[in-house]
Amino acid sequence: MKLIPCGRSIEWLYRAFRAADWRLPRVPSRLAARKHGVKQVSHDLRHRTIPVTPFMQNCSLVWSTVSGRGVVIDPGGDAERIKSAVREEAVTLERVLLTHAHLDHAAGARQFADSYAVPLEGPHPDDQFWLDLMPQQSARYGFPATAAFAPDRWLYDGDAVDCGGLPLQVLHCPGHTPGHVVFFHAAGLAFVGDVLFAGSIGRSDFPRGDHATLIRSIREKLWPLGDAVVFVPGHGPESTFGFERRTNPFVADALFE
Ligand SMILES: [Zn+2]
Ligand SMILES: [Zn+2]
Repeated sequence: MKLIPCGRSIEWLYRAFRAADWRLPRVPSRLAARKHGVKQVSHDLRHRTIPVTPFMQNCSLVWSTVSGRGVVIDPGGDAERIKSAVREEAVTLERVLLTHAHLDHAAGARQFADSYAVPLEGPHPDDQFWLDLMPQQSARYGFPATAAFAPDRWLYDGDAVDCGGLPLQVLHCPGHTPGHVVFFHAAGLAFVGDVLFAGSIGRSDFPRGDHATLIRSIREKLWPLGDAVVFVPGHGPESTFGFERRTNPFVADALFE
């Protein structure tokens, strides 16, 4: 047991502080990070997933630990929960990104971006019709009434968006929706929205969805990024491209041999 000069253990001191309900100094940042599900991808890149809306959509806060600046991807709703995460991680928000225009990803996005006075970027313009349908989407699923909107910048395949000084590469991956985009950082992290899930793929039975196009997007756009890439899907747990190539019942390599 480690003893401090007064002969008491550090644990005792810690308990005494707690019992007195005093404010303890900040726990080491790595510990605090783990508590909130923060993932450190490289020395300068972190992200934290915040499940939002009744659809438990994985909104992501992504930032540079060097600049302290970052982005929020897909703030579909529960804005206060996302804002608490932004405050807790002390991130200066620079922009809001959208993977696609389904309401669980996009419904709260315009308001959220406006509340920080930052630009809203994405998805690809082929999703405009979904943004135009936002009032109907929100009424149908019992979301707060949401007006149709347009982003400040549409995104195209090959574009880059800045995340606190770190470049995120934009890949156009249609199939789930025609204007779906994926954000990729070269350290080996991808935010894939509803294109690919751990053990599954996105639905393609929505208007202008297409199964064959979705499979092509995954195999021709995502797989070349590398087996080691960790991806954050729009719903459910993270996985890697390599693991899905071996085991995914819809897109495993063995199915195409
Ligand atoms: Zn979707
Ligand atoms: Zn979704």
